[in-house]
Amino acid sequence: MPTYRDEAIVLRTHKLGEADRIVTMLTREHGKVRAVGKGVRRTSSRFGARLEPFMVVDAQFYEGRTFDTVNQVETIQPFAKAIAGDYPMFTAATAMVETADKLVDHEKEPALQQYRLLRAGLGALANREHEHGLILDSYLLRAFAVAGWAASFDSCATCGKPGPHRAFSPAAGGAVCDNDRPTGAASPAPETLLLLAALQAGDWPVADASEARNRREAAGIVAAYTQYHLERSLRSLGMVDRTRSESPEVTAP
Ligand SMILES: [Zn+2]
Repeated sequence: MPTYRDEAIVLRTHKLGEADRIVTMLTREHGKVRAVGKGVRRTSSRFGARLEPFMVVDAQFYEGRTFDTVNQVETIQPFAKAIAGDYPMFTAATAMVETADKLVDHEKEPALQQYRLLRAGLGALANREHEHGLILDSYLLRAFAVAGWAASFDSCATCGKPGPHRAFSPAAGGAVCDNDRPTGAASPAPETLLLLAALQAGDWPVADASEARNRREAAGIVAAYTQYHLERSLRSLGMVDRTRSESPEVTAP
């Protein structure tokens, strides 16, 4: 049987039969792979714990007709250990792997940029490099940009007129000028649009210095934007606990 070896991030698993799991992974070289982990739910399994969501592993696969089989697994980064015990981090990480799973919609098509983004995002969460909601929103904006849906936070997304503009429309693809503004478009604070631009660019000094009310507003815009462009909502996005980034002050309309 032909075999291959790759680095992989575990996205999700589900049970198969008595003791096996189907493990969905995003790999560095082979894109998304679904493989059977045989016997991994037995307590005696040598590598069952390494095939949990958020783990980064070095794995060897046997190619099969329907599913490949994963038969050797070594841990590269045990992100699951740091993430699973913290509910806000867990929900953010879950939204990230679900998004990667949806954006990389074909199996065995290389998606190296998506792999790198997800690995960096999960690593930033596990190492608590920034506030978890900021890490999630930066990841989402960048993953969508890689997939071809980069948002515009300055120039009008419709006519290109230089900004800043006061309205934001997910359907238009970002900030919109007064002429192109659809009814019902959001009117985020100027600081929120600057934060969103920083999150999409990975400009962390700007993002880390942002205020809670702008983070909250940015999170709502990112959720609306990503949900619109996936054409169906990500189940886990609504579950993300952002209470840590919230302050008692009231958001200005
Ligand atoms: Zn315009």
